[in-house]
Amino acid sequence: MQPLQCAECRAEVLVRKNSWEHTSVQWNAEARAACRELSNARSGNPDRPGLPLPRCGKLTETIETAARDGRLEIADPAPVRPLAESH
Ligand SMILES: [Zn+2]
Repeated sequence: MQPLQCAECRAEVLVRKNSWEHTSVQWNAEARAACRELSNARSGNPDRPGLPLPRCGKLTETIETAARDGRLEIADPAPVRPLAESH
């Protein structure tokens, strides 16, 4: 996993990009506290079991950008590419 900081809320999480479509994100307590989207989601749904893990939209964008820029290592970069390339 690689550390990555959310461009929006500065929460630092650990990210593992398995492929273009599959990303694992590991939040620690500090990052959860720093992320506004995550704390909003939490206060809106207190203690509801079975709720999917809240996500930060900005962080998802940050991950995508980092992957495209080559700043984030992708374990299996083939075969799907986010952008079609001309031949
Ligand atoms: Zn965030």
